Amino acid sequence: MRTQRQVVDYSLQKRAVLRELLAGRVGTYDVCDASPYLKNAARFHGEPTDRRCPICRSENLTLVHYIYGDELKQSAGQARTLTELPVLAMTLREFQVFVVEVCLGCDWNHLVEQYLLGRDGLAGDNDGEQDVAAEGAGRRRREAQR
Ligand SMILES: [Zn+2]
Repeated sequence: MRTQRQVVDYSLQKRAVLRELLAGRVGTYDVCDASPYLKNAARFHGEPTDRRCPICRSENLTLVHYIYGDELKQSAGQARTLTELPVLAMTLREFQVFVVEVCLGCDWNHLVEQYLLGRDGLAGDNDGEQDVAAEGAGRRRREAQR
């Protein structure tokens, strides 16, 4: 997405959890604990993938996109489909997206990544005030040097 920025990738953390699981230091009941809310969000707003669940290997993972931010008001914390995000990104200045992968078979779930969306990320989309201010400061500096 064009306005996507400040991406944080959680794949290292996910691999660490899977390692712990393989080593028997955590049980599947610790990591396969998707709440009914998360599973509903996956069913109704989720983005199907062709990636197999790393735990049960029988279902494909579903990605759920949660949105957070002051501008969202009562919608903050809700799940949105992937197709709804670009529309929001053009309407709002800034909001946070958390992507969670869920397996509807075994309830495995893990945060995949987070990022910011919104019009603030579009280069040249401000009304030029900052540029004018910077130019003015440069002019004042040049004048002072004279
Ligand atoms: Zn699974």
